[in-house]
Amino acid sequence: MTDADIPESHPRYESLLTRHRIEAGVEKGITSRQGLIAQGRGEAFDYLLGERTLPSADAAERAAAAHLLLADHPVLSVNGNVAALVPGEVVDLAEATAADIEVNLFNRTDERMERIADHLRDHGASEVKGLTADGRIPGLDHERAKVDADGIGDADVVVVPLEDGDRAEALGELGKVEVVIDLNPMSRSARAADVPIVDNVIRAVPAIAEHARDLADADRETLESAVAEFDADEALAAAERAIREGGDDDET
Ligand code: ATP
Ligand code: MG
Repeated sequence: MTDADIPESHPRYESLLTRHRIEAGVEKGITSRQGLIAQGRGEAFDYLLGERTLPSADAAERAAAAHLLLADHPVLSVNGNVAALVPGEVVDLAEATAADIEVNLFNRTDERMERIADHLRDHGASEVKGLTADGRIPGLDHERAKVDADGIGDADVVVVPLEDGDRAEALGELGKVEVVIDLNPMSRSARAADVPIVDNVIRAVPAIAEHARDLADADRETLESAVAEFDADEALAAAERAIREGGDDDET
């Protein structure tokens, strides 16, 4: 089965497409089997959130775009799920924000690192970091701590979609601005973020790129106010309310 075999008219088209891409990722050796479990957890939250981008998530996506445009050195971190779900969209976001792309795996193997880097290059990435692994994030055990010194190690803004809680916390402690994309508003990763985006990575990555293009000609003051207006605690609370109460009104 290919993406094209899934009928767009299906009421749960996006969910089927997502499952199919993750499955294909596992077959290609890009996504780990644990990645399948993470996907299942994400889907459950997406279902509860109504499989849509909440207004609070859209505000987070705009704040993320502003942070990326203000950054001296923005980096987009890519793991096996992200590579399977949104490879072209990550490359597009990197172009829209002049960000580096770095492969960063929880279950790191050289083979999977290479496959993901190749997959991203097939989708148009010119440079993929993460293979040098000559930097460390303090406070994590050896394998989990590896980053490129001139990539995430040097970044002032990092986007970490679907990051594990420990690493999200350790990165936050380094004083970098951390943007996390995670459908679970209660996850430690989302709570550690300066900008938690409670949305499916499939919707969030293109949405950040769209905001970045929209803000491309904005002056510094406009970007800084887009950053300042965003309230992380309020965005997490809005997502939790949307889960409890259903409905569309998450801005009250
Ligand atoms: P912790 O509390 O340590 O952060 P965790 O629950 O986040 O633990 P994992 O299962 O490793 O632990 O994380 C996977 C996370 O990724 C889940 O929170 C899940 O909601 C999220 N996730 C999975 N698929 C997607 C997706 N397509 N888009 C956005 N988030 C997703
Ligand atoms: Mg998490």
